[in-house]
Order: sequence, then structure tokens, then C-alpha cells
Amino acid sequence: MNDIREQHCMICGEQKAEGEGIRIVSGFLCQSCEIEMVHTDVKDAKYPFFIHQMKQIFIENNA
Ligand SMILES: [Zn+2]
Repeated sequence: MNDIREQHCMICGEQKAEGEGIRIVSGFLCQSCEIEMVHTDVKDAKYPFFIHQMKQIFIENNA
């Protein structure tokens, strides 16, 4: 059976197949965002955005 579920990436908001990313707690992170995040420097302007998005997932999960 071909069970390809679509997941909503919590960073870019794009719809991706489950195999194209990783599941984090209740969220999903697509491969391109995962790679981008890994390569994002702490000093990069995008870094706080990633942290903010990640925090939302954990807050949601703990609510
Ligand atoms: Zn993404």
C-alpha cells in the first residue's frame, strides 16, 4: 500500500510528503528547512525566526 501522507512544514508552511522531512514533537520540518537550519549561524538574522517557530511547537505540545 502506498501511504504517502502530507505534512505541513512548520517553518516554510509548505506541504511535503512525510518522507521528505522529519517529525518533531507535534510538528514537521521539511528537509530543505532542516538543512537550512543546520547551516544557519547563531548570528544569522534567520536564527531567531527558527527558534521562535520551534518554541511554538513545544508550547503547543505542553499546553
Ligand atoms: Zn520547510
